[in-house]
Amino acid sequence: MAGISRRAALLGSGAVLGVLGQRYLGARLPDLAGTGPVLGPAVPPTLNDASGLSKTPIAKHVTLTEDPGEALVVALRAELAEAAAENRPVNIGAARHSMGGQAIPRDGTAITLDSRFLQADPDKGLYRVQAGVRWREVITALDPLNLSPKVMQSNNDFGVAATFCVNAHGWPVSHGPMGSTVRRIRLMLADGSLITCSRGENPEIFAATMGGYGLTGLITELTVEAAANRRLVPTFEDMPGDAFAERFVDALAEGAVDMAYGRLNVDRTRFFEDALMITYRPDPDQTGLTPAAGSGLVSRASRYLFRAQLGNERVKSLRWGVETRIGTRLTGPVMRNSLINEPVITLDDRDPARTDILHEYFVSPGEFPAFLDACREVIPRSYQELLNITLRYVAADTESVLSFAPVPRIAAVMLFSQEMTRRAEADMKRMTQDLIDRIIDIGGTYYLPYRLHARPDQFNWAYPRASEFAARKRLIDPDLRFRNALWDTYLEGM
Ligand SMILES: Cc1cc2nc3c(=O)[nH]c(=O)nc-3n(C[C@H](O)[C@H](O)[C@H](O)COP(=O)(O)OP(=O)(O)OC[C@H]3O[C@@H](n4cnc5c(N)ncnc54)[C@H](O)[C@@H]3O)c2cc1C
Repeated sequence: MAGISRRAALLGSGAVLGVLGQRYLGARLPDLAGTGPVLGPAVPPTLNDASGLSKTPIAKHVTLTEDPGEALVVALRAELAEAAAENRPVNIGAARHSMGGQAIPRDGTAITLDSRFLQADPDKGLYRVQAGVRWREVITALDPLNLSPKVMQSNNDFGVAATFCVNAHGWPVSHGPMGSTVRRIRLMLADGSLITCSRGENPEIFAATMGGYGLTGLITELTVEAAANRRLVPTFEDMPGDAFAERFVDALAEGAVDMAYGRLNVDRTRFFEDALMITYRPDPDQTGLTPAAGSGLVSRASRYLFRAQLGNERVKSLRWGVETRIGTRLTGPVMRNSLINEPVITLDDRDPARTDILHEYFVSPGEFPAFLDACREVIPRSYQELLNITLRYVAADTESVLSFAPVPRIAAVMLFSQEMTRRAEADMKRMTQDLIDRIIDIGGTYYLPYRLHARPDQFNWAYPRASEFAARKRLIDPDLRFRNALWDTYLEGM
């Protein structure tokens, strides 16, 4: 390992618990797997993720911070060679906010990439990043150039390659998932060879790696498209929930909208009956642009109302009233980069007995009313506390093999607060399977980076090209070096 800069090798150490997903881990680690205490010299290290529910034994965990180049390549090859010699799996991650061990190799080598390396080419509207660079660093580097990430998630904590590997979407419109904005990647295969993948070079590996959850290889760097960073003016429109998708699609078809999302009322007395649409258009006056700000006062203040909703339907109703009436008056013109420069921590629950669990479903706009019916039927019957739902538009992704949007979709992102108990976990699983059944019935899909609660048959329905994906992976990784919980749960038998 000599010559590797700023490298933390956490072999056999309980310190691994504190390295990733910091906010969620540490204090709140109920041993749902029943594997006993995790600290102490004789116990193998474990790794967890943002859910706090994925504690998994691993062989080792290393963090690499080198710029893309020879030192990074040498370090990754060394890890691959060691893992091959000991016949253990390898998986690479960034922030490990995926919630079902999608970035954790059981008994294997976990690698974390973290870096600030970014080279921009403003004339071409492109930038090159080390794979582990987080979006907050991308925003910091692009902002002075008046550029902005074209598509990223609604929070800035995640890694760029990780975003490509889950093929995340955001609320900039009208785009497909983030993979559609990636021009090329450098990928290390299981045999240590380094290849370039793009739409012109190794296109089949490119399509499998996009949304491929790190199962094809280790991405070392990406070249990504940027958008203009403009000052945007919000417009708010409330409407019945059932009318949302049609109105949303019409608003986006007008062409002037740069960012857009929707919300639904989660108060159980009016569950999913009311919707709010928020669209951002460029300010006609683009003089005096300001640097990207962090989390705004309104976001921070709204955390208290957000968390006070737990178990309190009146507060849910109050929050809806505040956001649809007062919030709309407090929000003025804002820079695009400020809108997306939001850390997850802003809404953190700070309660060691609970965890935030996300669900996400994708349905065609025409099926949106049926989707609302399914949710009204299934969610209030469960013990789970739905605190928030946001709605986005995702243009069709016909490139990635594990595509969640083969046709244009409305994405519904739900945030539940779940008790960290076995009973709550079983209830969540039951509710998830019920919802997925209904969503598959209306031709929709669910998102893969969250809890692995779907049944295998549901996975196959939602991702009909899964066996093709597994076959492509086996071709380039015949020893199955790259594995994680997603592979182990659904793909291994294919
Ligand atoms: C609060 C919250 C908000 C979210 N909002 C959104 C949203 O708005 N839109 C959306 O689409 N998703 C959203 N997500 C889901 C999120 O996009 C994924 O969980 C994403 O993976 C998080 O990035 P990460 O850095 O934590 O990835 P990790 O969990 O670390 O990794 C994700 C996957 O990428 C692979 N990977 C990572 N780096 C590499 C690499 N260098 N080479 C090869 N494979 C690699 C990993 O093996 C893993 O399978 C949200 C999640 C949370 C917790």
